[in-house]
Amino acid sequence: SGPELAALVAGGTVDVQDFPKPGIVFKDLMPFFGDGPAFKRVIDGIVTHYGPGSFDVVAGVEARGFVLAAAIAYATGVGVVPVRKAGKLPRPAFSATYALEYGEATLEVHEGAFVPGQRVLVVDDVLATGGTAGATMDLVEQAGGVVSGFTVLMELGFLKGRERLGPRTVHALLTV
Ligand code: AMP
Repeated sequence: SGPELAALVAGGTVDVQDFPKPGIVFKDLMPFFGDGPAFKRVIDGIVTHYGPGSFDVVAGVEARGFVLAAAIAYATGVGVVPVRKAGKLPRPAFSATYALEYGEATLEVHEGAFVPGQRVLVVDDVLATGGTAGATMDLVEQAGGVVSGFTVLMELGFLKGRERLGPRTVHALLTV
């Protein structure tokens, strides 16, 4: 159930003060990732939420999004498209630069990463200001995909990232 999944995410999160910069409370989800039963329940919960067959591929944001994307993809028999930080992809790529809660970042997706019209579930661990999510969904669309959903384990509600994403639907297991 929703509250059960939220509790699993909350129970596997450690607040790290002043990382990577003073004033930032970093949500470290590594204990959650390291907890096999919790990880499995949450991945299964995300798959159930969207319904297997409702997406054709999963796009994960480097690096913690990769872990989630691979598990969701394996559970549903679809593939993974990595959304990478600048300079990592070997072939021509679309690129988007945006402001972060703690700095600036550039993300890239290979040109032709999607079959045109392919339905893409986008996944990351934390939604903060929404810059990463917005850039990722723009890149997915530039590369030919259709965003069929965006899901995160945790949403930092006070940063209002959801509002930056316009009409796109955000699914967060836990909002703090
Ligand atoms: P944003 O673009 O501001 O929504 O930031 C989201 C991205 O940065 C995600 O990939 C998160 O993993 C990471 N991130 C931003 N803020 C935090 C935070 N306070 N704790 C953990 N991860 C964060």
